Amino acid sequence: MIFLLVGTFWIAAAGAGQDQTAKVAIHFQPQSPTEAFVNATAEYDALWKAEGARMVAAMERISGLPFEEREIKAVIYEGVSFSGSGNTPMQLRASYPAEVKEATLIHELSHRMLGRVKTTKEIDEHRKIFLVLYDIWVDLYGKEFADRNVAVESQRKGLYDYESAWKWALAMSAEDRAATFKTLRFEPGPTGTSRSAVSSTGEPSALHPVRCCVCAFRAACRSIHSTHRIGSGSR
Ligand SMILES: [Zn+2]
Repeated sequence: MIFLLVGTFWIAAAGAGQDQTAKVAIHFQPQSPTEAFVNATAEYDALWKAEGARMVAAMERISGLPFEEREIKAVIYEGVSFSGSGNTPMQLRASYPAEVKEATLIHELSHRMLGRVKTTKEIDEHRKIFLVLYDIWVDLYGKEFADRNVAVESQRKGLYDYESAWKWALAMSAEDRAATFKTLRFEPGPTGTSRSAVSSTGEPSALHPVRCCVCAFRAACRSIHSTHRIGSGSR
């Protein structure tokens, strides 16, 4: 109920015609002043200025939740893309083709936006975002774009089995994905609020700002699984 009330209230408060791009500023920075990074940073920045308002609106409409952050830093470099969280910057790969830059930016923003939607034993961090990500991509750029980027992500190996998670999500109809997403528990509270990383039951807190890309546990997993990388990674 809280889940529904918060989403309904916020979207009503946002109002029609409000400047959504101004609402969420992303500050893209090259990791170093090399030509490739500087050029890719300009591409990401132009993409956000042109499409950010639509992206945020689609993410809110499909998820039924507000995009709560107002300023995000993103470092453009050559490596695995990560969402970061809170004051930890996103990291985005410079060399993606233009279309993959779009898809990956939405993927990583989905991790940040849905950080307070709880995972379950069956629905890990990526299964959680894939319940809405495909439909956000379709809404913004059409089914062919969505299918091409599912194929791109399904080829990424090593950090996480994206292919299995995508097959799991796409075995459902759009309606079933939406219904399954709504079964997940939303933990309300101000963005960036940090309780202890591990609750009294030993579960990592959804409010902790750092997430592990492998098990979706928050920063607590650094001590539980020392080999896990922090962040929500995509190749
Ligand atoms: Zn991810």
